[in-house]
Amino acid sequence: MSTPFPERVTEYYAALARRRDPACDPIAAQFVPQPSETDRAPAETDDPLQDHRYAPLDRLVHRYTDRALILTTDRCAVYCRHCFRRHFTERGSGAISEEQLNAILEYLARQPQVTELLLSGGDPLTIEPERFEAILERLYRVNASYIVRVCTRVPVVMPSRVDERLAAALGRREGLWLVTQVNHPRELTPDCAAALRRLQRHGVPVLNQSVLLRGVNDDLETLTALFKGLLQLRVKPYYLFQADLAAGTRHLRVSIEEGLELMRRLRMRVSGPALPVYALDQPGAGGKLNLEIAFHGIEGESYILRDGEGREYRYPRELPSAVYPSSEL
Ligand code: SF4
Repeated sequence: MSTPFPERVTEYYAALARRRDPACDPIAAQFVPQPSETDRAPAETDDPLQDHRYAPLDRLVHRYTDRALILTTDRCAVYCRHCFRRHFTERGSGAISEEQLNAILEYLARQPQVTELLLSGGDPLTIEPERFEAILERLYRVNASYIVRVCTRVPVVMPSRVDERLAAALGRREGLWLVTQVNHPRELTPDCAAALRRLQRHGVPVLNQSVLLRGVNDDLETLTALFKGLLQLRVKPYYLFQADLAAGTRHLRVSIEEGLELMRRLRMRVSGPALPVYALDQPGAGGKLNLEIAFHGIEGESYILRDGEGREYRYPRELPSAVYPSSEL
């Protein structure tokens, strides 16, 4: 990692930690920096998803033909220690400029095959609401039928920001989905639940993408409570991500063997709608790999993964650099 990933946390989210010790608390583990973040494992990089390779313009990643990702801001309410986009997040450039947005709009107007936009960053909902609404307005002027996914942790780390006005503004847009990231059942507080309900009342469908994290949610009881809790709030557990190979995050990664075993046991514990896809964002594959299908064994220090076309990928089989106790509910 070239420069250390900064620490930032909301008062609200910090108060969810019972101890400010990442080795003992699943909330603290997500926001308190650890010395091991300065270690770089051999397979780790600053840009594990290769955003730079697929970026025709500043702030735009165009990896798949029909989808484009806009990096709306580099700011987040909380800097998650597992963040895979740390090559961009909090590098001091703030929200997208008018000039950058204009260039992206011109590009999209020339790409009618793009039907789906992902708004990410950073966290798009940390942008001033008026500006964010103006960005949405301009995007929908290019194509009123865009399907838009707003990827945000704000309902989890700063739920008060999801007020009636913001929920109504998002709800006015047909085809807009909110994708959040709840990683532990303790994050499903009454405040978070109220924010999610506000969005749903305004017609915004909500999906959840969790990341499988050592010391946070790498045990059956925690994942069961998490996915049942989400379903209870009418939020679909969509993905459980295998952590990406971002520099300085090895201590948070769980092995694919453990992940597959957790999924096998989860199937016996939760109903179909509560079960996410255990997935890996594998650069070069035509989309995310469903690890329960893509896993084809172990060779030496690597897991062998294959995509739908039979192309082979390797993901390191590594031992954790720190041993944590099971996370607490
Ligand atoms: S909210 Fe998303 S982009 Fe921001 S630090 Fe967390 S994982 Fe990274």
